Amino acid sequence: MCVRADAERTLDVVLVIRADLVEHIMAHAREEHPHEACGMIAGAEGDERPERLIRMLNAAKPSGDESADEQERAMRSVLLGDAHAEYQGEQRSSTTYYTFDTKQRLRVQREMDARDEWPVVIYHSHTRSPAYPSQVDIDLASGPASDPRIHYVIVSTRDEASPTVGGYEFRSFRIVNGVVTEEDVEVVESYMFSHTGADDVPDRA
Ligand SMILES: [Zn+2]
Repeated sequence: MCVRADAERTLDVVLVIRADLVEHIMAHAREEHPHEACGMIAGAEGDERPERLIRMLNAAKPSGDESADEQERAMRSVLLGDAHAEYQGEQRSSTTYYTFDTKQRLRVQREMDARDEWPVVIYHSHTRSPAYPSQVDIDLASGPASDPRIHYVIVSTRDEASPTVGGYEFRSFRIVNGVVTEEDVEVVESYMFSHTGADDVPDRA
């Protein structure tokens, strides 16, 4: 396909994101603190502009439903294995880990497919550590659902946050085959006049 070369070339461009979406991610992260918040921003297929923010449930957060929580804990220990089961001597929980709710993830994926969208951004918050991918984040991003086009946004709501974007610790990464590459974040009021790489895609008309 002729767009392939363009798609690969745009891999090292910045994340261009609307200011209201940055604010929404930070608001979500603050509301969930001390639990990790997570979600995604869908955009039109063939385009790199994040448009529609979808808040996701962090399934690691206790729901109050004992059997559902028990099931989730069992799945978590399988997923994390012995190497990552703990963080600083504590069992990982929703304060140090996030996982999408499987049913919601499936529903959202169907919705995106129907609207011809893809997850341009997958975001989550760290509430105690810097906004940098943990080994668990890297493993998840390198799994079977891995897509080199995805911008992995991580924000930090820790006390000693070191601001990178608009006063927030807000960073974006590409994660491909276990390799983390940080990219610049360009915040815009509107996509109207910003270059996002979308212009490189030839007109199909
Ligand atoms: Zn993380």
